[in-house]
Amino acid sequence: MTNYYIWTIGCQMNKAESERLGSYLEKLGYQATDIVEEADLIMLNSCVVRQSAENRVINKLNALKALKRSHPNLTLAVTGCLVNSDIDQIKQNFPHVDYFLKPGDYPPWLEKADLSSVLPQHPSPGTFVPIIQGCDNFCTYCIVPYRRGRERSRPTEEIVGEVKELVQRGVKEVTLLGQNVDSYGHDLPNKPDLTDLLNELNTIAGLTRLRFLTNHPKDMSPRLIEAIAYLDKVCEHISLPVQSGNNDILRAMRRGYTIEHYRQLISEIRSKIPNVALSTDIIVGFPSETETQFQQTVNLLSELRFDTIHVAAYSPRPGTIAAKELEDNIPPIEKKGRLNKIEQLQKRIATGINSRLLGRTVEILVEGKQKDKWQGRTRSGKLVFFSDNNARRGQLIKIRVEKTSPWSLQGKVELSNNN
Ligand code: SAM
Ligand code: SF4
Repeated sequence: MTNYYIWTIGCQMNKAESERLGSYLEKLGYQATDIVEEADLIMLNSCVVRQSAENRVINKLNALKALKRSHPNLTLAVTGCLVNSDIDQIKQNFPHVDYFLKPGDYPPWLEKADLSSVLPQHPSPGTFVPIIQGCDNFCTYCIVPYRRGRERSRPTEEIVGEVKELVQRGVKEVTLLGQNVDSYGHDLPNKPDLTDLLNELNTIAGLTRLRFLTNHPKDMSPRLIEAIAYLDKVCEHISLPVQSGNNDILRAMRRGYTIEHYRQLISEIRSKIPNVALSTDIIVGFPSETETQFQQTVNLLSELRFDTIHVAAYSPRPGTIAAKELEDNIPPIEKKGRLNKIEQLQKRIATGINSRLLGRTVEILVEGKQKDKWQGRTRSGKLVFFSDNNARRGQLIKIRVEKTSPWSLQGKVELSNNN
């Protein structure tokens, strides 16, 4: 028996690709192991979106040198965004790695899989489905378009077929993935868009929930907002990264929208989709970001009150426009201070938003157990924990909320005739 170990860091796209690769390996007779020393094949699915992520990947790769020396038959492969087009150069830096595979490429010693065989064999009740690869936007700070290439949409029939198959395998909820899901379909023959795709997926029997990430504020359409409001399976949960609250910074980032447009979009979303949960991404310490410009970001976040915020300190990524043209001139300690301020602000906002759910009943899809507690998510994406002796994985279940925190909720199964 050949053992494999996959180490994944980074975005949901990486997680989805690792899950599929693992299933494919198992189909070929490999067996998963949690113990890296016992693996015959180690795959690192890497992320380099920020320097801190790249450092983790490099540390891990260096740590594997000794293992490779003591197990010469070990195969070591690296995929994900670390792998750029100059594979000869990275091979020189990491000679102990056997294969470097561009994101989405298959290891050459495996025959290329057909579609159904790369689907997760034992998918989680909530599973990711990539719908568009790559990105055409070239935000000045971002390395993704250089590593994942131009946008390539998967044909609608292929995605629909895949989701049907996943439902057969027990999936109840699907999250559609793309760097910019609003670009979906522009490169396909009949130019379907995300709304068309959702309309089709919404009819699949047995599927109960649909989500998608990430939307782009310059591209999210009124038609899509309407569809989220009227399609019963599409969850009221939108991820719309704003990145900064200042128009000059947004221009320097080449985001393609203004704060006025963004505010208007949020107001339209909130008026059409009651109880929508919103999430955003922020970069602090972008080159030349002044204290006043940072304060405008803080003010915007206080005004719009997101359910969740992912905040990152700017780090220059080699080859990007910002790294080439703009000086990384905000000191690390200042970036850290700004990041902490936003985290503290968000903690207060999320405390307020979540505390309103105390004593209420929410419906969750149970994803699995963590230690001795079941965990699942509401349609709005809130993480909920509860204790129960029954097998609950994959069930839609009502929970009465007894405790709230900025990050999650806790409660008890609400007894009804079905329980
Ligand atoms: N496509 C999405 C969008 O339009 O925002 C997000 C994709 S990006 C891979 C994920 C997040 O990483 C971004 O929203 C941004 O906040 C952060 N990020 C990307 N490049 C960064 C950089 N150079 N420094 C710090 N954070 C960065
Ligand atoms: Fe990166 Fe911008 Fe594309 Fe998002 S939209 S992946 S931030 S280039």
